[in-house]
Amino acid sequence: MKARKMFLKPFAILMAVCMLVQLGSVVGAVEKTEIVVNGVADKQKAQHIADTIKGEVTISPFGIACLFGHSMAQGTAIETNHRYYATAPRCRRVTYKIDYCTRSSCNYITYTQTTVSSVYCCS
Ligand SMILES: [Zn+2]
Ligand SMILES: [Zn+2]
Repeated sequence: MKARKMFLKPFAILMAVCMLVQLGSVVGAVEKTEIVVNGVADKQKAQHIADTIKGEVTISPFGIACLFGHSMAQGTAIETNHRYYATAPRCRRVTYKIDYCTRSSCNYITYTQTTVSSVYCCS
């Protein structure tokens, strides 16, 4: 019984670390693009915003609860395209201003690029 507990403890710590990583604000990461959404408390909304910037979802003009207007809020997002440029600084960073509807049944978003810069990140 004691040996079993000793085995389980590191596993529990590992699980806790994994959960902490999941709670971080990095919501979208593919091989070369990383998107961090800030100022959006709702995890599903944050994920949706990241997916939208990546071009993986289509935005419907309004959800059923928004026939008479959206419930808009603002956030920001930072997209990093790793090894985007051939020479240093190689990574490209784009910041976005996000306007999104907070209702869960609605996926309406508009976003505009605010800055584009190159950063020393990968070699
Ligand atoms: Zn809406
Ligand atoms: Zn990089």
